[in-house]
Amino acid sequence: MKCPVCLYQDTKVVDSRVASDGLSIRRRRECLKCGFRFSTYEEIEILDLTIVKRDGRKEVYSREKLIRGLKKSLEKLAITDDRFKKLINAIERDLQVIRKNEVTSNQVGQIIMKHLKKTNHVAFIRFASVYQQFKDVQTFQRELNKLLKNKRGKKKSK
Ligand SMILES: [Zn+2]
Repeated sequence: MKCPVCLYQDTKVVDSRVASDGLSIRRRRECLKCGFRFSTYEEIEILDLTIVKRDGRKEVYSREKLIRGLKKSLEKLAITDDRFKKLINAIERDLQVIRKNEVTSNQVGQIIMKHLKKTNHVAFIRFASVYQQFKDVQTFQRELNKLLKNKRGKKKSK
């Protein structure tokens, strides 16, 4: 890795920190020539994953697209960058676990919903309703009630 200041070819790693989920690593580097210190960030990238849409069209998996979709669901809701990164990692980990080169958009949607549910209830409801998993108002209401019940249950047990 080149030094961003003097472009010298050699830098040494002075510190490495693995994220708590073990899926990304931050390295502190120091230029061997000018002594400039900077960090690099490495994360796992999913390669060669194709999403098969409901109409049969295929599309290469894109993290950017996932991020855009999630940001829409999480709009105006409080979520830290760290929490957001963890959400992305958790979703991608599940995609990776399927171990297939092709997954359906339905599978992706299920995985996203599973993790959104744990992260933010409002975002989950938003995503799910856009995703048309709720076939009618009753199903939607039932899901909502389930969530509210769980929330209350959790508070009581504390
Ligand atoms: Zn340098």
